[in-house]
Amino acid sequence: MKRAFNFSAGPSMLPLDVIEKVAAELTDYNGCGESVMEMSHRSAEFKQILKDAEADLRDLMSIPDNYKVLFLQGGGTLQFSMVPLNLMTGSKKADYIVGGSWAKKAAKEAAKFGDVKVVASSEDDNFTYIPKVDKSQIRPDADYVHITYNNTIYGTHYAEVPDVGDVTLVADMSSCILSENIDVSKFGLIYAGAQKNIGPAGMTLVIVREDLLGKAPADIPIYLDYQIHADNDSSYNTPPCFAIYVAGEVFKKIKREGGVEVLLKANVEKAKMLYDYIDGSGFYKCPVAKEDRSLMNVVFVTGNGDLDKKFVSQAKEKGLHNLGGHRSIGGMRASIYNAMPKEGVEALIDFMEEFRKENA
Ligand SMILES: *Cc1c(COP(=O)(O)O)cnc(C)c1O
Repeated sequence: MKRAFNFSAGPSMLPLDVIEKVAAELTDYNGCGESVMEMSHRSAEFKQILKDAEADLRDLMSIPDNYKVLFLQGGGTLQFSMVPLNLMTGSKKADYIVGGSWAKKAAKEAAKFGDVKVVASSEDDNFTYIPKVDKSQIRPDADYVHITYNNTIYGTHYAEVPDVGDVTLVADMSSCILSENIDVSKFGLIYAGAQKNIGPAGMTLVIVREDLLGKAPADIPIYLDYQIHADNDSSYNTPPCFAIYVAGEVFKKIKREGGVEVLLKANVEKAKMLYDYIDGSGFYKCPVAKEDRSLMNVVFVTGNGDLDKKFVSQAKEKGLHNLGGHRSIGGMRASIYNAMPKEGVEALIDFMEEFRKENA
């Protein structure tokens, strides 16, 4: 069996033992004679899978009882629309803090549905930092404030939850969910596409406070109303069954191995190794402000575009895959999500040093 260290930003690596368990159960889940891929979403087996996945996630994230957990489709991108359609329904104003391209896309989409104000942006400096906001900048009658908690493309991350006063805080946590402990009660709504840090593509997680449900106008497409999914335990229509099952196996593994706290410790260690090497190398540079650096997506450059391309292709030959930066900015990006073992980061650093010696 050949397994590369895959530094893709998403879809990305999954824990090998989870993939192996899924493979072992692929044709016959738990002795029921069916694959989860073939199973009715109304079957007792699948209902249990769904129930366990939700319960384990609630446990892992200490999600309070007054929050609903929804397993939806449409990716992070559909949430750019669903959030305003459901929540921008009071004053029809929403404030966006723009720390990267995903946030910018979210704000642009929301502007179709109401009065969107970008209250802060770090675009002036190529999104190399998290824009700081004082709560006096937030419109007190805004229906919500939207942030991107970890900017996947630029490698920035909120060191702490921003204070937005009494306004509902909504966060896109697609690329950092379950990598660190989060106080869910500080947020009205959290969403995350599964394919970065949870499981395979196809499922999007939404965690929403109950009092925010039921505010969508009656004329929006029914699938886009959170209430309908909340009322039907994410099974109003066929949910992304297989993706939910694999995510559920990931949740079980995290629980078995000590929870999010243990992962955070490992994530801090992995990221520190890589940033320390980059900063001390005299060859590679991380453009991101130190206090805002992501634990999940480590962005770096040599300063020479051709050399960067050579780096990415030579790394691939060594079994270090997908180290190219996002197509919009180039350079390099190592996505080191929960499932990336420490050995992968060590192998990357070894290769970086070898490449530096040959090309410095
Ligand atoms: C990947 C990503 C998205 C887009 O997710 P899709 O599932 O492809 O729609 C949105 N926000 C963030 C922060 C991301 O990393």
